[in-house]
Amino acid sequence: MIPGPVEFSPEVLSALGQPTTSHVSPDFMECFGQCLQMMRQVFLAPSSQPFIVAGTGTLAMDLAASNLVEPGDRALVINTGYFGDRMGDMLCRYGAEVDYLDSPVGEVACAERLREALKDKDYALVAMTHVDTSTGVLTDVKNLSAVAKDAGCLTIVDGVCGTAGAECRSDEWGVDVHLTASQKAIGVPPGLALVTVSEDALRKFESRATPVPNYYADINNWLPIMQAYEARKGAYFGTPAVNLVYALNASLREILDEGMEARFARHRRLAQAFRAGASAIGLKMVPKTEELAAPTLSALYYPEGIDASLTGHINASGVIVAGGLHPKISDQYFRVGHMGVCNESDILATVGAIERALATMDDAFTAGAGVTAAQKALSTSG
Ligand SMILES: *Cc1c(COP(=O)(O)O)cnc(C)c1O
Repeated sequence: MIPGPVEFSPEVLSALGQPTTSHVSPDFMECFGQCLQMMRQVFLAPSSQPFIVAGTGTLAMDLAASNLVEPGDRALVINTGYFGDRMGDMLCRYGAEVDYLDSPVGEVACAERLREALKDKDYALVAMTHVDTSTGVLTDVKNLSAVAKDAGCLTIVDGVCGTAGAECRSDEWGVDVHLTASQKAIGVPPGLALVTVSEDALRKFESRATPVPNYYADINNWLPIMQAYEARKGAYFGTPAVNLVYALNASLREILDEGMEARFARHRRLAQAFRAGASAIGLKMVPKTEELAAPTLSALYYPEGIDASLTGHINASGVIVAGGLHPKISDQYFRVGHMGVCNESDILATVGAIERALATMDDAFTAGAGVTAAQKALSTSG
C-alpha cells in the first residue's frame, strides 16, 4: 500500500515472465503498436502522440523538460511539494527561468492565483503535479490548464501518482504533456516512462532554435520509432524493455476492460472509505480539505504522542505503508497508496493494521472504530 511500486495483477506478472522476443519480432511489433493505441485511450489523449521509453518517471519528466524548454524561456511551476521542486530543478537545468507558485503544505494554488501570476510575465510553460506524492494533494488540472492555455502557455502535467487512477482528460482539458511511470496506477513493475505529447507541444518542439541538450530523451530520436511501431513496423533507436512492454499491454487491456469512468469512480470510492476509517480513529490528513485529497494516495499525520515508528508497527502487521517525503514535515506523517488493483479488502486490511499498530503503541487506544467506519462508507457507496 505504498505509492509505487504497487501490487500487480497475475496477468501482468505472467506477461513479464514470458520468453523475451526480438524487439522487431512480429508479435512484439503488434504488442507495442497496441500499447500506443491503448495509451491514447487511457490518457484520454486521442489526438496526442504517445511515447513509451525505458526509464523511470523521472525520465518522463526529463523528456518533457528537455524537449519543450529552450534557454531563456520562462516557466511557472505550480508547486505542491517534492516532485514540483524536482520539475523546477530540471526546467532550470535546461535553461528556463523558473518561478514557483507555492502554497502552504497541504494546499495548491487556485485558478485565480494562476491567472494573476500569468499576468506578471510572459510564460511559455506551466507545470503542475496532478497528485502530489509528498502530500496527497490533488491539483485541479482541468481549471488550471484552462487558465494556462488561455494565456498561451504549454502545460506539463506530472501524472506519475495519478494517471489511470485520478481523472485526467488530457486532450479535453488542454494538457500538452501528460507523463507517468509504469509502477503506479498503471500497474506495471518499474522501468517504463509513459508520455503523451499534444499537437501544440509538438509544434513548439519543431520550432526549436537549439538542439535538445539531452541525447536519450530527444523526441527526434523517439518519434519515428513510435510512429513505426504504431504502423506495426520495427524500428530501432534504443532497445525497448521488451518484457515490460508485454506487461504494459496486459495492464492497459485490464484498465480499458474496467473502463476509465468506472476506474476513476472506484479509486474515489476506495479513497473515501479509507479516509472515513482514518478519520474515525482521529487521524488528520495532510491535504486541508477532502476536496483537495487525492483518489490514489492518502497522507496522514501521526496522532498526538505517536512517532514515526508507527509505520514499522503497521508494516509488522503485514501491510506496507510509506513514511513522509515532504522535507518540511517528513517525520510527522505517513503515506498510504490506494491505486491500481487495490480493492475493498485491501482498504479494510490497511485500516485494521493501522488500528492494531496504534493499540500496540498506546494502551488507551481501542481498535474497531476505523474498520467500522470504512465498512460503512463502502456499504453506502456504489
Ligand atoms: C514517483 C513519482 C515520480 C518519479 O518517478 P520515478 O519512477 O521514481 O522516477 C515523479 N513524479 C511523481 C508525482 C511521482 O509520484
